[in-house]
Amino acid sequence: MATWSILCDFDGTISVDDVTDVLLERFGKPGWEALEKRWRDGEISSRMCMQAQIGMLDASKAELDSAIDEIRIDPAFPAFLRAVQRRGWPLAIVSDGLDYAIRRIMARHGITDVPVLANKLMPSGSRGWMLESPHANTTCKVDSGTCKCACARREQSKTQRVLLIGDGASDFCAAGSVDFVFAKYRLNEYCRTHAIHHTSILGFAEAIELLPALAGETDDLNVAPQSLELRVDARF
Ligand SMILES: [Mg+2]
Ligand SMILES: [Zn+2]
Repeated sequence: MATWSILCDFDGTISVDDVTDVLLERFGKPGWEALEKRWRDGEISSRMCMQAQIGMLDASKAELDSAIDEIRIDPAFPAFLRAVQRRGWPLAIVSDGLDYAIRRIMARHGITDVPVLANKLMPSGSRGWMLESPHANTTCKVDSGTCKCACARREQSKTQRVLLIGDGASDFCAAGSVDFVFAKYRLNEYCRTHAIHHTSILGFAEAIELLPALAGETDDLNVAPQSLELRVDARF
């Protein structure tokens, strides 16, 4: 039976909405949209964009908490996590979002035992906020706040097969460094155009159904299973 280490994105993958977008729309001082545009145009890295945008939040901790408490998650995620834990597979949340928000949202769903690798949100004055990026890697071509490809390489050095679950641009650098991807939305498109072994999912209800195939108990991953085997065999 195969053992997998799972790296799971948060915003748009576990959560329905993007936490940082919700906070900026509600509490952002004028100018945060212009930063977003500079990032989209490739003028600044996503790490620089996030750091500057978080510095533009104007909210008390209570205001921030009440906005975070409205963020919904994929209702099948807790069951997926339990199914993965029953198999003894490690799962970590790797996110270019905010550690504080992720932990608070997970705790609301009774989940307190999952490692979270994300940017560190810290208070700065009574209504100000700042960001530190302890998992950044400036040598990565993407230069996001949390370099997911570095996380993927670290997991692979533990000689485990690594599965990435994600939905968007913050997952692109890791997608090419893992053994298999469960991909939503733009990440699905990216995996297809870059010939990365993946299967498309809409959410965690589907991801649960794919676990037996991932474990090698069945072969109904809706990709050519031999390509998954080939890729995995090449490393073991
Ligand atoms: Mg995402
Ligand atoms: Zn990277």
